[in-house]
Amino acid sequence: MIIAMGLPGAGKTTVLKSLNTDYEIHNFGNLMFEIEKENFGIKDRDEMRKIPIEKQKQVQKMVYEKLSGMGDRVILDTHCSVSTPKGFFPGVPFEYLKLLKVDALVLITADVEEVKKRRAEDPGRKRDDDDIGLHDQMNKGYLAAYSAFTGAPAVVIVNRQGQLEKAVEKFQKILG
Ligand code: AMP
Ligand code: MG
Repeated sequence: MIIAMGLPGAGKTTVLKSLNTDYEIHNFGNLMFEIEKENFGIKDRDEMRKIPIEKQKQVQKMVYEKLSGMGDRVILDTHCSVSTPKGFFPGVPFEYLKLLKVDALVLITADVEEVKKRRAEDPGRKRDDDDIGLHDQMNKGYLAAYSAFTGAPAVVIVNRQGQLEKAVEKFQKILG
């Protein structure tokens, strides 16, 4: 499995959609949203990071149980850390990381000002006006920890404005 992570608005999903690959792409947020819609009456995916952390963790566990049964040629579209009103929490806790066969850990990121602009221009999402620079720094810390824990390489891809192809090309190389 290749775990692709990034800040909301870094362009993670856009990069993944542009790949030329036979890997199956699974979006963690979609899998969580299906469960939360049914069990907690959540109506908007951007509400999910605001519910009590214990509940988020309960659903996170259910999603990882589902993912651990999937094959190797999978790219997971997820978050390195989730920014909640109560602080950051790991998107890929070690207890689940050890259940997966991880080939690479990829962080897709972008300059703070570009992320801010993309969030403002995305009417379909309710993205927070939080400290993007801090979240990005935290993500890099978590990324290094995930890499040290699994032994899988960490790759940082900067998705610069107007240079989507370059970001896609770098990701494509990881797929071999
Ligand atoms: P996205 O559409 O990728 O921004 O994801 C939507 C939401 O899914 C995020 O804001 C989080 O609430 C949740 N989410 C995604 N990945 C994870 C994860 N690994 N652990 C916990 N929550 C996650
Ligand atoms: Mg996305």
